[in-house]
Amino acid sequence: MKSLTQTGAGAPLLDTHIHLDRYSLSDQEAIVADIRHCEVQSIISVSMDLASCKRNLELSRLYGTMVRAAFGYHPEQPVPSSAETKALLDWMEEHADDMIAVGEVGLPYYAKLEAESEGRSWDNRPYEYLLEQFILFAKKHHKPVILHAVYEDAETACRLLEKYGVTRAHFHWFKGSRDTLLRMAGNGYYISFTPDILYEDE
Ligand SMILES: [Zn+2]
Repeated sequence: MKSLTQTGAGAPLLDTHIHLDRYSLSDQEAIVADIRHCEVQSIISVSMDLASCKRNLELSRLYGTMVRAAFGYHPEQPVPSSAETKALLDWMEEHADDMIAVGEVGLPYYAKLEAESEGRSWDNRPYEYLLEQFILFAKKHHKPVILHAVYEDAETACRLLEKYGVTRAHFHWFKGSRDTLLRMAGNGYYISFTPDILYEDE
């Protein structure tokens, strides 16, 4: 965020993926002050878990339209218990009007890789079930979905979005096959790239 510069194009810009709540208070203030000087209309602060959702709600209240909150559960961590999932989804129901999108949600590609490299068994089904619940929530409340899902996980996410007819989705830090990319484009989803584009051949 600190390297944002004037675009000069006059078009409003949105940063659709920042973990603003993870920064120190002084960094949060600096980031928001910085975007005020750029042509960035809003930043969307995505959540890691319920505590993070609550912090992002506070930030969106503090900064008004400059900071929009997205609520969800980041997939690259242990899957929440059913009680934790219920508490999060109940809280999101209560605060559906306070959120601009569901996120960050998705599937744990890197946690799965790590488990496999250490010879631990891995069950992806609880994560897929959780993602399905978030997509159902998005469908019910007409919210877009901000996704962390790469490679074959992006295919699973596409299948779940298609199953419920959710057409507004943003895959952040996307990497995957050309076929997946075409499937996403055909569905009208948004995809963002990252500095990877400078050093990864694919
Ligand atoms: Zn993220």
